[in-house]
Amino acid sequence: MSEHVTEQRHGHYIGGEWTDGTSAGGRPASGRTESAERDSFESENPATGETLATFQRGTAADVDAALEAAADAFEEWRALSYIDRAEYLWEIYHELRDRHEELGEIVSKECGKEISEGKADVTEAWHMVEWAAGNARHPHGDVVPSEVAGKDSSMRRKPRGVVGCITPWNFPVAIPFWHMAIALVEGNTVVWKPAEQTPWCGQIIAEMFEDAGIPAGVFNMVQGFGDAGAAITDDERVDTVLFTGSAEVGHEIAGKVGGEPGTLAACEMGGKNGIVVTEEADLDLAVHSAVMSSFKTTGQRCVSSERLIVHEEVYDEFKARFVDIAEDVTVGDPLAEDTFMGPAIEADHVEKIRQHNDLAREEGATVLVDRFELEDSEIPDDHEDGAATAAEGERSGSYANGHWVGPFVYEIDYESDLRCLNEECFGPHVALIEYEGDIEDAVEIHNDTPYGLAGAIISEDYRQINYFRDHADLGLAYANLPCIGAEVQLPFGGVKKSGNGYPSAREAIEAVTERTAWTTNN
Ligand code: GLU
Repeated sequence: MSEHVTEQRHGHYIGGEWTDGTSAGGRPASGRTESAERDSFESENPATGETLATFQRGTAADVDAALEAAADAFEEWRALSYIDRAEYLWEIYHELRDRHEELGEIVSKECGKEISEGKADVTEAWHMVEWAAGNARHPHGDVVPSEVAGKDSSMRRKPRGVVGCITPWNFPVAIPFWHMAIALVEGNTVVWKPAEQTPWCGQIIAEMFEDAGIPAGVFNMVQGFGDAGAAITDDERVDTVLFTGSAEVGHEIAGKVGGEPGTLAACEMGGKNGIVVTEEADLDLAVHSAVMSSFKTTGQRCVSSERLIVHEEVYDEFKARFVDIAEDVTVGDPLAEDTFMGPAIEADHVEKIRQHNDLAREEGATVLVDRFELEDSEIPDDHEDGAATAAEGERSGSYANGHWVGPFVYEIDYESDLRCLNEECFGPHVALIEYEGDIEDAVEIHNDTPYGLAGAIISEDYRQINYFRDHADLGLAYANLPCIGAEVQLPFGGVKKSGNGYPSAREAIEAVTERTAWTTNN
């Protein structure tokens, strides 16, 4: 376990220093009269309810200090070469690799993902760091021919300044690096707010930047809730906001930030993702892809599939096989090897999933699998010492307090305006929709949501596959694969309500840099 986290209460990392975690770090917010309890919050293990660590809750004053530090550090940081800036990221790359097992377990404990996914989160983080730091040695910009001999034109990029990063809990190590690695290598300074559900991962990442010796103020981290996030996105010192999270918050940010001249928001948000299974599908592959896409991470990925659109010729067989697996997938201790699904992130989220399940019932669904409330026998037994997964020094919890939810599968006649087919649940909640006709009919149903993030077609017919590729409203489209598991070197993002930008890989460079059309006369 990370040395800093074993201490009692953890602060923010601002201007190269840790605030002491017991106050607002010497920077009291004006009029701040909240009690000490109000100023702190806890990281909770969603499988047991145990407290993992306590963190200082960021205020507008903390964000102000972080933005000031970031703005002050910008000129010196941008003056370094790309390759010198990337060196700090390479330090972090090695640390992520060296601590793979340990960090993977922390991810699983704090956000409830089963252990192979916890480790994959860390792997994805070093993939992103490798891409961003490696890109420092790749060409930046283009030479553009001129109409006039002797006149030289080129497109050049320069950093925008201070980048505000707001990241979600479901990929608590990978997604922060999608945002920050590229922003930093391109010469920007960063103020980051980790998700309030995963502050421990936030703490560890900030320690990595400190250990890498990044110059003071270049990287800043403020823990906290939406008010701290809003203090970042509302501030005129922020030149770009990179956001990954819910559509609700993302649209608010995009509306606010996008309205400010010279400020840019790249937001990547939710989906109501669909998988089309045609009459030409390999059904083994179809069932596998649907199970992975609907239930991995307990359905809590923005790319998770909540709609399975299946041709009438193969519908009954697909349904029988999918339902069998949904009845059977193991929900349990994220650290146990045979677990397929861990818990939901928090009690409020369990309630949200319940409401979505109820809504489907109200709108006429025939429920095929309802494991929303797990049987007592399905909930893992506490260890003999009653400590569940608690490690030394942590308060113990009990699996009886975990935020357990199991698969909920239903079939429903497709109608365009059903809310259950249009609103994202972000849980193991999945609709089976039978379609007649050809691929055109399937894609029409597929596209009939306000979102357009990820989706897949399962078919062995190239005409169908190509039609889906060319007509599905998607940022991330797959054929004969699950619709989860994007690789970092591809732009990650959606169309329609799912996003207005790509806060990762090559396209993210556009969000964190400004272009100059540069012309000289020789
Ligand atoms: N990178 C993840 C995937 O493609 C999704 C990230 C997210 O859900 O926010 O599976």
